Amino acid sequence: MGKHRNSTYIIELHDVWPASMDKIADDIANLQDWGVQNLVLGVVPGLFSTEDGDFLAQLQQWQEQGFELMVHGWKHQSDLDLPRSFCGRALQKITANEAEFAGLSKKDATKLLHHSYEHWEKLGLGQAVGFVAPTWWGSANIVAEALQLWPWVESRFALYSQDINLSSIAFSFAGFPPQISALALRISMFGVGLINSVPRLVLHPGDTKRNFAPLLRKSVENWLVHRKAFKFNVIS
Ligand SMILES: [Zn+2]
Repeated sequence: MGKHRNSTYIIELHDVWPASMDKIADDIANLQDWGVQNLVLGVVPGLFSTEDGDFLAQLQQWQEQGFELMVHGWKHQSDLDLPRSFCGRALQKITANEAEFAGLSKKDATKLLHHSYEHWEKLGLGQAVGFVAPTWWGSANIVAEALQLWPWVESRFALYSQDINLSSIAFSFAGFPPQISALALRISMFGVGLINSVPRLVLHPGDTKRNFAPLLRKSVENWLVHRKAFKFNVIS
């Protein structure tokens, strides 16, 4: 495992669903232009079905190019009728109700995971490589349940499989103003050389066109030079 711990990175693109398709396609084209060959796409199963033929065909095409698909929550929008802990309710406010799993009981969280898994099964995309909860909040509580369904599960600071827990910090700029994003990027460029872990750069639709894109490009190129891509399927 030493090899993986010291020489790998992951670049993810989250919030993939039919309505974000145009932005995602642009981001992928930009990332490829910057030299990225391996990407993990966080796809939200509850927002499409087998009737979305064009979207499914595009996902399959990306899979054929070697991109890996991860299940990203159920609908990426919290069901506000479900009971939640005080903390889970507070998190809805700061995440615009996107922290779908935050503060749920184990029973309700497990039910949502199964909705996701069973719906995905019908889509003909093969097995997803893993699961990542929207905004990551609440993910620490669902690792064991999610690992019953998928080979890998992400939290904000780690990647879990049945056999391995990897230290892995997610660098993400969702909802940050440009100055903060630029700062976070500078830290990520610094961090990628130092941290003994598998760092994740997690992008959201349109990130490669935001005004920090030149810095993002530099950061991505830095990652590519210093690290090898981590493939979930390789060591699962
Ligand atoms: Zn998301």
